[in-house]
Amino acid sequence: MTEITSLSLSNLVNKVKKKELSSLEITKAFVERSEKSKKLNAYITDNFENALNKAKQFDEDPNLDLKLPGIPIAVKDLFCTKDVKTTAGSKMLNSFIPPYESTVTQNMWNEGAILLGKLNCDEFAMGSSNETSYFGNVQNPIDENLVPGGSSGGSASALAARLTPITIGTDTGGSIRQPASFTGTVGLKPTYGSCSRYGIVAFASSLDQAGPMSQNVEDCALLHEIISSYDSKDSTSVDFKRNEYSKELNKDIKGKKIGIPKEYRVDGMPDEIEDLWKKGVEYIKDCGAEIIDISLPHTNYALPTYYIVAPAEASSNLARYDGVKYGFRAEGKNLIDMYEKTRSEGFGSEVQRRIMIGTYVLSSGYYDAYYLKAQKVRNLIKSDFDEAYKKVDAILTPSTPSSAFKIGEKTNDPISMYLNDIFTVPVNLAGLPGISIPAGHDKKGYPLGLQLIGKPFDEQNLLNIAYAMEEKIGFENKISDWWMK
Ligand code: GLN
Repeated sequence: MTEITSLSLSNLVNKVKKKELSSLEITKAFVERSEKSKKLNAYITDNFENALNKAKQFDEDPNLDLKLPGIPIAVKDLFCTKDVKTTAGSKMLNSFIPPYESTVTQNMWNEGAILLGKLNCDEFAMGSSNETSYFGNVQNPIDENLVPGGSSGGSASALAARLTPITIGTDTGGSIRQPASFTGTVGLKPTYGSCSRYGIVAFASSLDQAGPMSQNVEDCALLHEIISSYDSKDSTSVDFKRNEYSKELNKDIKGKKIGIPKEYRVDGMPDEIEDLWKKGVEYIKDCGAEIIDISLPHTNYALPTYYIVAPAEASSNLARYDGVKYGFRAEGKNLIDMYEKTRSEGFGSEVQRRIMIGTYVLSSGYYDAYYLKAQKVRNLIKSDFDEAYKKVDAILTPSTPSSAFKIGEKTNDPISMYLNDIFTVPVNLAGLPGISIPAGHDKKGYPLGLQLIGKPFDEQNLLNIAYAMEEKIGFENKISDWWMK
């Protein structure tokens, strides 16, 4: 591993500010390492040449007051990037070149960052293993046989393999936190409404949020303060006072109350996960915080509720891909035939499954029985959290019910694939912030994550608790660069 690519984002930023490293040196290092790492299949589109040119331009007239001065960053291919192909991991958008930029990526470029490339993901962010991508699966740098998690699998893989110093993903039901957990990295799903959804390819609009993925909590806080902004172009963006999260990071969490929900002890959960959770409780106590047992009684209904609400919204959002307005079009005998062929050839099987479920639960005969019921249960899940937050400041759970699984292991069993998100989906349904931090390894040496769930818009507190725990945990990622040999 070259020295430059092993540095954290905050270190890189400091070195640029002190003129110890130039943007070009940093960009070259990440480009070279990315070029030698094709085997991971983390990139869908590279922007290496442009990035090197931009880095040269930056160095000619560097603005060292910016928060990401000349720092190259690769992002999930769900963020629209002006004039750079954006596919959402789908054949449907294989030739889509957006004429506009997403707000969260624009926020990064405004602070001096440079687009390094677009990272692989599950098709339209539907998946938990990055195996539904039209551009092929991604490998986990921890072990070549493992999935990196999904849907932000390319982002997690690229980050853990040091192909990008930091990255952003999106999380509709766990797609930032689950891959972070599988790759020994940090991933934050912000409160719904914190980060603008403008220019992000929509999956399920009432659940989707963009968020940072990083090597450590400090970098996560820095990127979050940059991407989180009020945006009039997104009607669900919330105008609240945002902190300078990295400046206000504080490890002193003495006296904080952390809830342990009994319903997260699911049947068949491996001992390793239970042990990790117990260790998490000890870390929290070591930090001087208090543990409180809580109940979130409707937890069991979160996954079935999610798999009604998310496909319903997806079926509606994906109606726009009809061969007329965007991307792929198949030839047909007439208009209807063209629509049908375009959608059956352009979408992969997981996306088609979601569209069918979504259309079914929204159809007039079943709307009340499924969609409306699911919305009511969603409210109950949200009320559980409201009740719990009368007693605690944050909640600690495992991030996932297992460590990373093998490529191909769950592709023929959608239900077992969906079960991956059992600990993460309630957070999206309730619109809350959640962070996964690496907290240990299983018997095979694969990383495991712990999740902290916060009150709405209380990211600072969540980051502080994660920051304090990170120090106690002292996690080290064991990555051998096997893919470069
Ligand atoms: N794995 C979940 C799904 O397939 C969540 C995906 C996501 O968060 N984008 O729906």
